[in-house]
Amino acid sequence: MPDAAQAPSARAEFNPFVQMQHRLDKATGLLHLDEGLVEILSTPHQELTVAIPVSMDDGSMRVFTGYRVQHSVARGPAKGGIRYAPDVHLDEVRALAAWMTWKCAVVNVPFGGGKGGIICDPRRMSPGELERLTRRYTANLLDIIGPERDVPAPDMNTNDQIMAWFMDTYSMHQRSTQTAIVTGKPVGLGGSKGRTIATGLGVAISAREALRYSNFEGPARVVVQGCGNVGGLGAKLIQEDGHQVIGISDMYGAIHNPKGLDMPAVLDYLKKNGRLEGFPGSENLTNNELLELDCDVLVPAATENQIHSQNAERIQAKLIVEGANGPTSAAADDILQDKGVLVVPDILANAGGVTVSYFEWVQDRMGYFWEEKDVCERLDRIMVSAFRDVAEAADKHQTNMRIGAYLVGVERVAYCHNLRGIYA
Ligand code: NAD
Repeated sequence: MPDAAQAPSARAEFNPFVQMQHRLDKATGLLHLDEGLVEILSTPHQELTVAIPVSMDDGSMRVFTGYRVQHSVARGPAKGGIRYAPDVHLDEVRALAAWMTWKCAVVNVPFGGGKGGIICDPRRMSPGELERLTRRYTANLLDIIGPERDVPAPDMNTNDQIMAWFMDTYSMHQRSTQTAIVTGKPVGLGGSKGRTIATGLGVAISAREALRYSNFEGPARVVVQGCGNVGGLGAKLIQEDGHQVIGISDMYGAIHNPKGLDMPAVLDYLKKNGRLEGFPGSENLTNNELLELDCDVLVPAATENQIHSQNAERIQAKLIVEGANGPTSAAADDILQDKGVLVVPDILANAGGVTVSYFEWVQDRMGYFWEEKDVCERLDRIMVSAFRDVAEAADKHQTNMRIGAYLVGVERVAYCHNLRGIYA
């Protein structure tokens, strides 16, 4: 276990699990938790690696590697998305699963943490290949998943259609329709109204609360990295709150207009052209240039390790609201703190998605579905209350909001472990 006082070495800086552990060590140190309990909190509950054979459209057969990690089931079933990407690796899935544990506890929904991933390039696969990949992956996980055991959801490059295939495959094996096995399903097939915008809405609410908290007046100039479910929809909602989105990117590059971008038009353009580059009235930038733009708020909403020891000094934003999981390294945390940048951490800022996933799971089990207005109001209340809990914990322990969020999440999980005891 790394020394809590020591930043992870540069080599480890891009390992998300090491980064998670570094923050966990800081929080457990401040909470003076028992060493054995710290070991339990640091160790994933269960990990499964599966080989997924798939018949490809050209008649060949390929074997993909998939993972499912359940970091904790202390507070309830494991909960967390499934990611399809060429660079998925086990330490990344482990970190994402642990972040889900702390995140669910921060917003106080009765779930543990899990995450899954398949090493594949979905952009090079047909819908039929993706369906066969998803169904076989689901079948391979049958022994460890279930509405009371582990409830997946979408993440990068997975969507409501993939969740529908996942639900159908599980249901075929159970011989009954089990909508509560996954969240993020299409509305009309057990999905919740408001789930698609939930993470972006949670990011917009976090930005609103953080601007209030830091007494920022007037419309903010906002830069967003990533223009998918979280970044694209989050940027649109932030603009609807009266702020100016002056830059946004996708994996191919960024667009910038210091006078503000019209987000609905940007999203339309992206849908038609498949990339942001060339959006009328904007200049093209690289993703690195985007992160270092002069702005008030930066929302990294793409992927891990974007703000690190090599670029943190050049970040000009005064407020960072983390839409992505793990976009900032532990070394960058220290640099940003010294610069006086307020960081609303991922396990708080992007918790809107899992909160509405919880609402979806509840609605599936009740068989009674809520209006979008009710979903959004309930989400707002939970996000505001979680923001307050984190700010209070940070204040009490004289630390930043990242460690404040770990303190809230870890303490709630530790509480459950202590009450449950160890079954022997
Ligand atoms: P998405 O696939 O919908 O969008 C990802 C966006 O990031 C796309 O615009 C893509 O082009 C861009 N991108 C990908 N790699 C990039 C790179 N290396 N550099 C710059 N841009 C890049 O994914 P999403 O669901 O919006 O998820 C984004 C992040 O938010 C991930 O870290 C995910 O784990 C996290 N997250 C998602 C949800 C959710 O509900 N979707 C919830 C919580 C956290």
